[in-house]
Amino acid sequence: MRKKLVAGNWKMNKNVVETRELLSALASGLDSVGGAERALCPPFTSLFVAAEALTGTGIGLGAQNMHWEEKGAFTGEISPSMVKEFCAYVILGHSERRMYFGETDETVNKKLLAAQKADLTPVVCVGETLAQYEAGETRQVVVEQIRAGLQGVAPEFAPRIVVAYEPIWAIGTGKASSAENAQAVHGEMIRPTLSELFGEEAAQAIRILYGGSVNAANAADFFAQPDIDGALVGGASLKADEFIAIAKAAAE
Ligand code: PEP
Repeated sequence: MRKKLVAGNWKMNKNVVETRELLSALASGLDSVGGAERALCPPFTSLFVAAEALTGTGIGLGAQNMHWEEKGAFTGEISPSMVKEFCAYVILGHSERRMYFGETDETVNKKLLAAQKADLTPVVCVGETLAQYEAGETRQVVVEQIRAGLQGVAPEFAPRIVVAYEPIWAIGTGKASSAENAQAVHGEMIRPTLSELFGEEAAQAIRILYGGSVNAANAADFFAQPDIDGALVGGASLKADEFIAIAKAAAE
């Protein structure tokens, strides 16, 4: 039985003062939802205060990105061990990083292997554009992103990987995928590809999250699907009541 994971991606929102405010609004409601794993991914500059605030709660912390190298002349980058100082999770290959910052399946793969080495739980994002969706290319795109992005992983690490299926047309648009469509992508495209790569047992252990306009009203529909193992939540994770409601839906 896969324990559901609900992760909040704050993107480039919340300075330190605002982080403290949101965490205090979230903490008690979220801490009591033990039936689902919960993680919050604030910006790098808020990780230190968030780590302090979340100590002793059951809520995990994640970074939104990292470099694959351990140290050196990479101005503006953050290394895996720097992330590991504060975090248990790291989001890799979010579509906004692919779209605006030149992230590719190859860089995602390097980061994934670095996460493995640093003992971080990676949340690897995949998903098609609207044009690809409309052209019926979802399978081809998602399968290729998984094959290229997840290659070379050690068999014992594979079950730790979390995959987030995030159709780009659903991110921040208020137009979520239907739960049935997301289930089909998870169950008929992503999990069989994971099985090809890592074997059926590992594929059954890997959590596949859905992301794209998840909110308190639609979360339960997604979580009722057999291959939807949680959610990566953007906009709604910035609203304490919404995010707590989503976590509660995952815990049921
Ligand atoms: C995301 O940023 O990963 C995301 C899914 O955003 P939203 O929930 O706002 O669509």
